[in-house]
Amino acid sequence: MVRDATEAAIRAVLNEKDFLNELDDKIGDGDHGLNMARGAQAAHEALAELDEEAGLKEVLQAVGEAVTANVGGSAGPLYGAAFSEAARVVDEDCALDAATLEKIFTAMVAEIQKRGNADRGDKTMLDVLIPIRDSFAAENCAGKSFEDILTQARDAARDGLEFTKTIAARKGRAASIGDKSIGCEDPGAASSLIIFRALCAVWKDSLRE
Ligand code: ADP
Ligand code: MG
Repeated sequence: MVRDATEAAIRAVLNEKDFLNELDDKIGDGDHGLNMARGAQAAHEALAELDEEAGLKEVLQAVGEAVTANVGGSAGPLYGAAFSEAARVVDEDCALDAATLEKIFTAMVAEIQKRGNADRGDKTMLDVLIPIRDSFAAENCAGKSFEDILTQARDAARDGLEFTKTIAARKGRAASIGDKSIGCEDPGAASSLIIFRALCAVWKDSLRE
């Protein structure tokens, strides 16, 4: 199931390569789709080398290493380090539940912030990843089914991407055009949503099996 979800996210990134390039063309240098597709392809190849039985920890570790080794630009190294850090904090054989996802997204956000020094409102991938992290916090999940928790997180991620349209970039390449970036979605926030939406779709399907 971890592998199916990861492969679905990889396919989604490859499918949206041109769209992500177009977003980046408006406020950056037009290569975000290319960078993400390179990472997705490398992740796909790394997964093929893994044991059939590989769990969440090993998959995250393999994806993190593949992305770090193969993707340049600003987003690639941030995503690569974030996946590796997530791999470090999850337990072997952990269940896929809100607590595990909170752990993963807390680690990813912290690692991206440590390296990139950005926060919510700077028009980056963090405007999607921080709302996802917060939606998995215990106080926001009490009494809800896992399916409802995933829907809540996906909606928060979508709202986060919408929010990036309304603000000026303060970090990364797009910061150099400042207010001219208002009105455009952030490419890294868009790729985070694309990945998360694909993961959620597989996780939700698996609940109905
Ligand atoms: P580059 O900007 O080097 O061309 P990409 O186009 O692949 O790299 O990635 C751009 C994305 O990287 C941005 O849309 C933004 O979401 C993300 N990004 C850039 N700088 C930072 C940062 N300091 N913290 C978090 N995310 C960042
Ligand atoms: Mg770029």
